Amino acid sequence: MKRKSGLGCTGAVVIFVCIAVMVTLTVMKLTGGALGRIKTEMSLITDPIDKDAVSSGDDDWQLMLIDADNPLPDDFSVNLTSLANGHKIDSRVYPYLQKMFDDARSQGIFPSISSSYRTSAEQQSELDQKTREFINQGCSPEDALKKAKTWAALPRTSEHQAGLAVDITSVDASVQSPDIVWNWLKSNAHKYGFIRRYPPEKSGITGISNEPWHYRYVGQAAAKEIYKRGLCLEEYLEILHRED
Ligand SMILES: [Zn+2]
Repeated sequence: MKRKSGLGCTGAVVIFVCIAVMVTLTVMKLTGGALGRIKTEMSLITDPIDKDAVSSGDDDWQLMLIDADNPLPDDFSVNLTSLANGHKIDSRVYPYLQKMFDDARSQGIFPSISSSYRTSAEQQSELDQKTREFINQGCSPEDALKKAKTWAALPRTSEHQAGLAVDITSVDASVQSPDIVWNWLKSNAHKYGFIRRYPPEKSGITGISNEPWHYRYVGQAAAKEIYKRGLCLEEYLEILHRED
């Protein structure tokens, strides 16, 4: 009995030491991971941007910030190219969009445009529609409009009206889930000069809810930097101007 009791004691010590080592290793791993993440996030914000690769005065049109505080000018106009199903996009963006769709299809991904260029009247109608949806869900008209504005912009404050944005889904949701298309775009759109404009983690900065379908053309050099650093357009432009 005595020997058994001695072995039991040794066993308990061994188990205790093992648990202690495991806890220490886990803490070290978590701390290292967190530190690594912080370091990466810091470098994303502070590393200088290769401006030569990004912007000359001629590129301003593609880096234009369009939001509630930065509406398009009253006399804004753009040359548009018509796509299938009546959609339209800035003619300068068209070849990149076409190439992105061609490459996606060759990889078994079948994207489809659900919204593209919108006039002021169409943008207002989009906002009205969203507002009605929230009223139908029981919101007061004021609250409904406030909520709707996080989904649809006022006229002249939407990238769609500039002809620089497209909403993309799958050709047939019963055959291919839009999530599959959105995942492909998330990893590949920057190669063609497009960015996922409203990711969920940036809604505090962009003021727009998560929109996995909304892609904005900014040019290939800017899109690659934005993708690589995990920025949104507002953060990117802030760094770019800070270095001026
Ligand atoms: Zn959109």
